[in-house]
Amino acid sequence: MKPWETYFREVEPYVAGEQPKLTSMIKLNTNENPYPPAPDVIDAIREMNMERLKLYPDPACEQLITAIADTYEVSAEQVFVGVGSDDVLGMAFLTFFNSPKPVLFPDITYSFYDVWAKLFQIPYRQPALDENYHIQKEDYYEENGGVVLANPNAPTSIYEDLHFIRDIIEHNQDVVVIVDEAYIDFGGTSAIELVKEYKNLLVVQTYSKSRSLAGMRIGYAIGDPGLIQAMQNVKYSYNSYTMNQTSIAAGVASMKAKQYFEECRNKIMDTREWTKKELANLGFSFPDSMTNFLFVTHESVPAKDLFEALRKENIFVRYFNKPRLDNHLRITIGTKEEMIKLIAFLYSYLKGNCSEHTRGFA
Ligand SMILES: *Cc1c(COP(=O)(O)O)cnc(C)c1O
Repeated sequence: MKPWETYFREVEPYVAGEQPKLTSMIKLNTNENPYPPAPDVIDAIREMNMERLKLYPDPACEQLITAIADTYEVSAEQVFVGVGSDDVLGMAFLTFFNSPKPVLFPDITYSFYDVWAKLFQIPYRQPALDENYHIQKEDYYEENGGVVLANPNAPTSIYEDLHFIRDIIEHNQDVVVIVDEAYIDFGGTSAIELVKEYKNLLVVQTYSKSRSLAGMRIGYAIGDPGLIQAMQNVKYSYNSYTMNQTSIAAGVASMKAKQYFEECRNKIMDTREWTKKELANLGFSFPDSMTNFLFVTHESVPAKDLFEALRKENIFVRYFNKPRLDNHLRITIGTKEEMIKLIAFLYSYLKGNCSEHTRGFA
C-alpha cells in the first residue's frame, strides 16, 4: 500500500443496472420510461439560447422551482432541486442524519441508502420486511436518528397507503422522515399532502421514471421551508451550480406538459395490468405493483435461469444476487410491443421447461 493510500476514503459503491450499448434490445432493467420526453421538452431544449451557455446557470434554479411548486401547489420555499433524486437524497442524508442514533430503513429497499450511510458515516439499522415483503411499521417506533422509506418500495413494487405513512411519521416526530416517491405516479397517492402537517417530513420525487427524463438528471424534494433551507445551506457549501441550464429548461417544460404526462403514465399502468395477467398465466407470481415494474418469481424455473435466457435474446431485466431476492426478477414495464415480445419469448422458453404450467396463453 502506498503511504497516501492509508488515508483514502474507502467505499463500496452502489451498482447501477447495466446500460448495454446495443442498438436493438428490449431494455427492461433500470425502470426507465419507454416513451420519449414530452414534445414540449424537446422543443424547449432546441429553442435554448446556446450562447448563454457561457454563463453560469441560475444557482437558485428559480424557474424550475416555480414550475414544480405550481404543479404541487406548494410555495417555492418548500422545494429543493438536484441532479436526479440520487443527488437530492444524498444531500438530505448529509443534512439531516447527524444523530448518534441509527437511521432506519428496510433491509430490502433502494440499495443506495446504505451506500450513502456508509459514505457519510451515518449509523443505520435495517429492519427486515415481513415474509410478504411488506414494511412492518412497528419496527419504526423505536428511537432512531431518522427514517427513510421508499413508497412504493423498490425492488418489491409494494405501495403502502397514506394511513400507514402517517402512522410512521406520528411515531417519529423528533427526527426527519424521508419518503422517496420515485414511483408514486404509477398509481399511489403522494405524501406531499402531509407536508403541511408535519414539518419533519421530506418527500422526494424524480423526473427519471414517470417523466421520461432519466438522461437529464432532475430530482426534487418537497418539505417545510426549514428543511429546504437546511438542504440549500449544505448544497451551497459543496457545489452551488448543480443544475445546468439544459436541465432547468427541460424540467420546466416537462412540468407544464401535463396532458402528455397523464397519457404516458396511464399507458404504462394499462400495459402493467396486461403484463400481470399474462405473467400469471405463465406461472409467475408477484405483489400488486404500484410502479412501472413487476417483482416476479416463477413457480418452477429459477430466476437466474430466466435472467440468463432472456439476456441471450437481448431482453434485459434486473436480477439481484442477494438473500431473499435471488429467486426474483425485476421487470420494467416497457411499451406494449416490448411486453408482447417478452411474453412470447417466456411462453416458448417455459413450454420447453414446464409445459403443464403454461396454461391458457393465447
Ligand atoms: C430510480 C430511483 C431513484 C433515483 O432516481 P434518479 O432521480 O434518477 O437519481 C431513487 N429512488 C428510487 C427508489 C429509485 O428507484
